[in-house]
Amino acid sequence: MSLITKYEFEAPEEGIKLLILAAVHGNETAGTKACNRLMAELNSGMVTLKKGFLTIVPVCNPEAYRKDVRCVEENLNRVMTFHENPQTYEQRLANEICPLIKRSRVTLDLHSTHCPGDVPFAFCDYPDKYNQTLINALDVEYVLEGWPEIYGRQQQITDYSTEHCAHVYGKTATTLECGYHKAPEAAELAYRAIVGTLAAFGMTDGELPFSCRKQRIRMDSFVIKEREGKLCRAYKHLDKISKGERLAVYDDGEALYAPDDGYILLPNLEADLGTEWYYLGSAI
Ligand SMILES: [Zn+2]
Repeated sequence: MSLITKYEFEAPEEGIKLLILAAVHGNETAGTKACNRLMAELNSGMVTLKKGFLTIVPVCNPEAYRKDVRCVEENLNRVMTFHENPQTYEQRLANEICPLIKRSRVTLDLHSTHCPGDVPFAFCDYPDKYNQTLINALDVEYVLEGWPEIYGRQQQITDYSTEHCAHVYGKTATTLECGYHKAPEAAELAYRAIVGTLAAFGMTDGELPFSCRKQRIRMDSFVIKEREGKLCRAYKHLDKISKGERLAVYDDGEALYAPDDGYILLPNLEADLGTEWYYLGSAI
């Protein structure tokens, strides 16, 4: 029996195969709400699919979703590859999701973040014409690039993300972080992202979304929290930082400084030891 539930919508005309994923992290429910809203509209005929094939998985990690936690045994977005001999719940989920990514030309993976006021943004790990089209359809100002490069350089953590999975199969995925999980605006942004994506790929007759100006940011490095310590203030994602600014301090007194002017990205005030504490980025 499968662990996930997928919903499929086939249009009368040939077109692109699109996959929408939500709640890869179980407590990131903005995308789930958006998926459910769109599916209700498709089922009622309010929205008609003209071209292509749409697959929606509104809850990619059902057990974590039920418990309102990020994951059950491990981060699903770090094990998104086919596991010959799956050892964890998330690896079993990955074995069901990867074939869907493989068969889809484009995947839109909807996430949300942990703090009220978080700014929405997209990841573009492997730029190509498909995710360029997709990103143009998203109502976000910030696009983060260079994730695979830093994980290639810094070997501490293996990056089996949704985007990596698609790339390995010669396909395209984009991750959209819709803002704070519980903010209604995040679900609204996720919904507009789906509708905009369908229009941008000609799958519906919907209006082409207004393309806002994008600020591209290159991710330069990440910092692993090696011992107990804390960030020097309650940094938020995309806060600007100055060269030499003290960013974090370990309990033994060692401090970590900003190597350059730029941005602090994805700071995790409650990072577990051995995991990503924050990332550093610069404007492109
Ligand atoms: Zn997430």
